[in-house]
Amino acid sequence: MKAITFHGVGDVRVEDVADPKIVDPTDVVLRITTSAVCGSDLHQYHGRGGALVEKGAVMGHEFMGVVEEVGPAVRAVRRGDRVVAPFSVSCGRCDWCRRRLPTQCSTTGRAVFGGRFGRVFPGGQAERIRVPFADHLCEPVPADMPDEDALFLGDILSTAFFCAENGGIRPGDTVAVFGAGPVGLLAMQSAQLFGPARVLAVDRIDYRLALAAEFGAEPVDLDRGDPAEQLRALTGGAGPDVVLECVGHATPFTQAIEAVRAGGTVSSVGVYVETSMAFPAREAFFKDLTLRMGICTARNYIGPLMPLVRLGKLRPARIVTHTMALAEAPRGYSIFDRKEDRAIKVLLRP
Ligand code: NAD
Ligand code: ZN
Repeated sequence: MKAITFHGVGDVRVEDVADPKIVDPTDVVLRITTSAVCGSDLHQYHGRGGALVEKGAVMGHEFMGVVEEVGPAVRAVRRGDRVVAPFSVSCGRCDWCRRRLPTQCSTTGRAVFGGRFGRVFPGGQAERIRVPFADHLCEPVPADMPDEDALFLGDILSTAFFCAENGGIRPGDTVAVFGAGPVGLLAMQSAQLFGPARVLAVDRIDYRLALAAEFGAEPVDLDRGDPAEQLRALTGGAGPDVVLECVGHATPFTQAIEAVRAGGTVSSVGVYVETSMAFPAREAFFKDLTLRMGICTARNYIGPLMPLVRLGKLRPARIVTHTMALAEAPRGYSIFDRKEDRAIKVLLRP
């Protein structure tokens, strides 16, 4: 089959790789209908945090498709079912999964599709994928729900909602979101469900800020001056009650802590692949702030968020700017990375 494989910094290729097959009796094989390029793929693409995957590894952890082969122990999923799966691979049975922390799954060693932590499971930027623990991981998608609406439940929409929820937004709050990429934009949509008075969107990419405005956020241009100062000026000097960090670098993390009001909350979902990072500890201490951060337990959010998408309360498909053939993925990565051609979210169709 054709798949997108990693070869080094800025180098992903379309290659022929072996077709996935059933390995364990609880596996299924999906024929992928849509996959996507995620901001987390860019960390790998930039070679950040060292080589996160082997050369030749199949990339991608946002995918959905139709069940094509079913292992003998699979009960709930059938051939022909259309399903979406979360980006992290969990068994559903270990102590961590029972505690509803599937991202800590001890059976898979915190594995991610297309990643290298724990057990290795090839990714979803491909024509097919093996999904282990299928009864637990595969969520059926209603026939009338388009791929564009369902796909992001497995990663960025769940992550964005988790970020807003971790922010503890209360009615009337002012919420600032760092990053108007796919995750930040969906975090703005999610934040609106918690009743904030204002949402402020921080980025430097004009067309992304324009979409943020469509989602009810007030754009704050990062390059017009120190963003923490700008946010304080917009909030009577105090700073936003809640800051959602949706970028994943030391600079926005620091800026989020600097911006939030005393006693406020910083909720961060940017991925930090470095083992440590400096941050303004003194400021965080004297502000009595609450910090939440982490990898999203997307498995827990797919079911609850699906009706919100169905009813139009979350509109993830609005961020899709490009739908291309799988073979065009190298260009998809490049425009998403460089913010060319007004790219926000790139979908791939095998
Ligand atoms: P993206 O790279 O498209 O978006 C990042 C945006 O941040 C860009 O628009 C960029 O212009 C902007 N930006 C850069 N520096 C900034 C700053 N100092 N202040 C404000 N904005 C700034 O990526 P994305 O797909 O939206 O992903 C965002 C982050 O979320 C990534 O780190 C990704 O790895 C992470 N992520 C985390 C999880 C999780 O489980 N925690 C899941 C999915 C993605
Ligand atoms: Zn992702």
